[in-house]
Amino acid sequence: MKKANNNFIDNELDNYYGDKRLLELLKYNKKGDFKCVYCYEKADTREHIPSKIFLNEPYSNNLAILPACFNCNNSYSDKEQYLACLIDYLQYKLYNLETVQRSKIQKTFISKPHIKDELEKSTIYANDGKLNYIEYNHDKIQAILLKLSIGHATYSLSRIHLDKPDIINYKFLPELSDEELHNFNSEVMCDVSPEIGARSFDNIVITNDGIPIVTWNIVQDNQYKFLAYESKTSMNIRIVIGEFLYAEVIWNN
Ligand SMILES: [Zn+2]
Repeated sequence: MKKANNNFIDNELDNYYGDKRLLELLKYNKKGDFKCVYCYEKADTREHIPSKIFLNEPYSNNLAILPACFNCNNSYSDKEQYLACLIDYLQYKLYNLETVQRSKIQKTFISKPHIKDELEKSTIYANDGKLNYIEYNHDKIQAILLKLSIGHATYSLSRIHLDKPDIINYKFLPELSDEELHNFNSEVMCDVSPEIGARSFDNIVITNDGIPIVTWNIVQDNQYKFLAYESKTSMNIRIVIGEFLYAEVIWNN
């Protein structure tokens, strides 16, 4: 038997759940080598999109998997933990809860005390001891939203080699008006048909009036969902984490 010269390719090909056409494209271009979806260097690992820190156990057994290089796979993890912890921490503080709610975050606070410290230091109280505001790290949040969006765009829309997006917007639940929340959660009428075979085709339904609608992709109920679509003017990825962080990343055409 031929000796594996790349664990990912030789051992994990059967477990690759990404868009099969993308797989062929990557294989063809680099004679069997995969490219990292984030930096386009040689990929020697694979990773889940979204990372498991954003999900609760048990996980679905068909989480999206994409090739990534060792550096990208690891360099994001501290920021991802920060964002996952922040989402729970904000609710814990804003709603006066006894503790952060997700057991995974409780464990992360113990195993990664520097993240808990960072969040506590960024919590500003008024003179009367009441919570004033929480100064969260915008750069870390943006970096992870971009990473998640690239993963969804690659997996669902078969888009690779993306430039910097034009917009990375996000709000936490208390910042959204009822109307904004309703609009954000709504399905989207699509004016461009995705290529047949693209994964996003699975999330398009045709209404009785013959109008194609892009629906949400629920990765885990109440914990993670995303919506990926292309229009004539842009490509958009919407992400909702923990029904508390609402984000949209847009690449204008
Ligand atoms: Zn990389």
